[in-house]
Amino acid sequence: MNRVRLLVLNAALGPLDYKLAQGMAVEAGSVVVAPLGPRTVTGVVWDEGRLPGAEVDASKLRALREVVPVPPISAPLRRLIEWTADYYCAPLASVARMVLSSGGALGGPSTTTEYRLVEGALPERMTPQREAAIDLLQGEQGILRELADISGVSTGVLRGLVNQGVIEPVTVAIDRPYSPADPDFHQPTLSDDQMRVAGTLVKAVEKRAFEPFLLDGVTGSGKTETYFEPVAQALRMGRQVLVLLPEIALTENFLTRFEQRFGAAPVQWHSSLKSTERRRAWRAISEGSAQVIVGARSALFLPYANLGLIVVDEAHEISFKQDDGVRYNARDVSVMRARFEEIPVVLASATPALESLHMANSGTYTKLVLPSRFGGAQLPQIKLIDLTLHKPGAGRWLAQPLVEGLEARLGAGEQSLLFLNRRGYAPLTLCRNCGHRFQCPNCSAWLVEHRLSRRLSCHHCGLEGPVPESCPECGEADCLVACGPGVERIADEVAELFPDARVEVATSDTLGSPERAAQFIAKAEARAIDVIVGTQLVTKGFHFPELTLVGVVDADLGLEGGDLRAAERTYQQVAQVAGRAGRGAKPGEVLIQTRHPEATVIAALADGDRDGFYEAETEARREAGAPPFGRWAAIILSSEDEREVRDVATRLGHARPQLDDVMILGPAPAPMALLRNRYRYRFLINARRTANLQGTLRDWLSAQDFPPGVRVGVDVDPYSF
Ligand code: ADP
Ligand code: ZN
Repeated sequence: MNRVRLLVLNAALGPLDYKLAQGMAVEAGSVVVAPLGPRTVTGVVWDEGRLPGAEVDASKLRALREVVPVPPISAPLRRLIEWTADYYCAPLASVARMVLSSGGALGGPSTTTEYRLVEGALPERMTPQREAAIDLLQGEQGILRELADISGVSTGVLRGLVNQGVIEPVTVAIDRPYSPADPDFHQPTLSDDQMRVAGTLVKAVEKRAFEPFLLDGVTGSGKTETYFEPVAQALRMGRQVLVLLPEIALTENFLTRFEQRFGAAPVQWHSSLKSTERRRAWRAISEGSAQVIVGARSALFLPYANLGLIVVDEAHEISFKQDDGVRYNARDVSVMRARFEEIPVVLASATPALESLHMANSGTYTKLVLPSRFGGAQLPQIKLIDLTLHKPGAGRWLAQPLVEGLEARLGAGEQSLLFLNRRGYAPLTLCRNCGHRFQCPNCSAWLVEHRLSRRLSCHHCGLEGPVPESCPECGEADCLVACGPGVERIADEVAELFPDARVEVATSDTLGSPERAAQFIAKAEARAIDVIVGTQLVTKGFHFPELTLVGVVDADLGLEGGDLRAAERTYQQVAQVAGRAGRGAKPGEVLIQTRHPEATVIAALADGDRDGFYEAETEARREAGAPPFGRWAAIILSSEDEREVRDVATRLGHARPQLDDVMILGPAPAPMALLRNRYRYRFLINARRTANLQGTLRDWLSAQDFPPGVRVGVDVDPYSF
């Protein structure tokens, strides 16, 4: 072929046609650079006939500039790009960028220059900035821009230090090989249940065929040890494995266990990788030398040379859903990737998403069950504390039975965990004198007081400021009152009740980086913490054998607001956090504070009746035409100009398609009607299973002209509303 059609990595452009330069050879999937006007664009040579576009006359075609020396994008990955763009109503180019730009990996030299401190060297003249930088850069190495981010000074300041020999350049080879993982490094003894499940998965890996599995195992059943067996098998076969994890905080724990099992660390992929590591990983993945890749959702779109297995751990987690750019759900896309690659995929969870469980119960996925905890540990005993009967005192949040539970654990030298899914000290701060409430100027949200950092912050846009001494409205001093509890306030309460207890707050504020998460785990394992007070971050993954009491401070919190998944999410969060108790030799106890002990989900938690809860919830979804029986999508229009976006939404509403199998609700102000200074309007679309939802959305939206200030976001299968 001499004419090729490119998928170019620029969403504003459609597919473009080119001819080959003299002596150039390409195939479908080749990554190329092409001229465009006075500039160039990067693109992927696409399969003939699969991208629509105008037939340009052959004499007008320009020649491709060069072929980028990376392996061509494979056919399965090209099909995945097409499927993702189609299903999530996203531009093909935006999806292709997730594959190619993710590594900043295209071509480039095979070495890079990084910088690090020279031990003991000092600048001729010390300034506060230099001092701070030298302090923060101990043990760090990276390109100057990254070091500037870490140290909070400009690259100019760092360059000054380079000139004075305080910071030195080091040449780093990008393609340094990773230490090989050994499938037989340390073979654990599996329980009978684990052996049965592992055996099925190993066979599936050997078969090299698409098969989706739901690994449904109670907390502490050893799901990780079990799925390590098919991972080992893939390694023996020389194939790559992708393990998706929902949080960086979980990765530390996983890395340790992986090294114990395989004798080497896996290759990591997440947003805080430094650029050299990112390029190294991308290249090793595309060439096949990276064996096991553990990553966040974006790892799903990497160009694996030779993928043999995908595992999605804690597959019910909402962080697998991406909520901006291409709005995809990595759990669902991983099943599609496995289908195109013709390999098995394992969704592992103790509290599967209702959709996943439905697929397993209806036979679409193969269900594998680990019914009991490993090593004879018992599931914890769960008790409800009815807050209408056991009212905590004013300004207190822990009821007497929970306080007594904590006291008993402290006396016995055991650990406790208190769960409240609210960061900071208090969710709302107001003025006692005039009633002024601290609200974010950019968002429909209150500012949250953080006492540990003495800041008021918006959890939506990241706005932050000091806590003022006096009310900005009435000027009264010392008049601010905190309303309601966050984890920091609960930690204060515990400290007041038990002054000798070692209390630690565990949230994304305190465990945000891998290093801090590792420190926290080490401290908890060394039993240097008596009471952990944490958000959803501590509900999963952690394994602290001495932790015997879990207290849920407010089980009703997530049930407010009537969200589609409120009950399911509450079940998952509480069951997961309950699963942290009694994982060792000592039995665990879970105390759940609630004002609604009769609510279906709360009663099911108390009775340990997961199947009963899922059945009731499934029926409710069936009646509501909600997933998995019907489908939902949302369209979010946003603009800095409220009138403009309201007018556009109204116009779009008038042009709505009239169909029997697709119902369109709205427009209405979105739940976050103002977010990061943009006003937002929303349509909700409910479609029957058989309707052409995506086609309807595309036709409807493409018939409209949107002014440049208005952004249009389509969310297919929104997580919540
Ligand atoms: P889950 O993810 O199912 O909640 P984990 O994988 O965290 O459970 O396992 C719980 C604990 O039991 C971990 O400390 C794990 O190392 C241990 N464990 C599980 N299976 C085995 C096994 N076969 N041999 C040794 N230890 C195991
Ligand atoms: Zn805000």
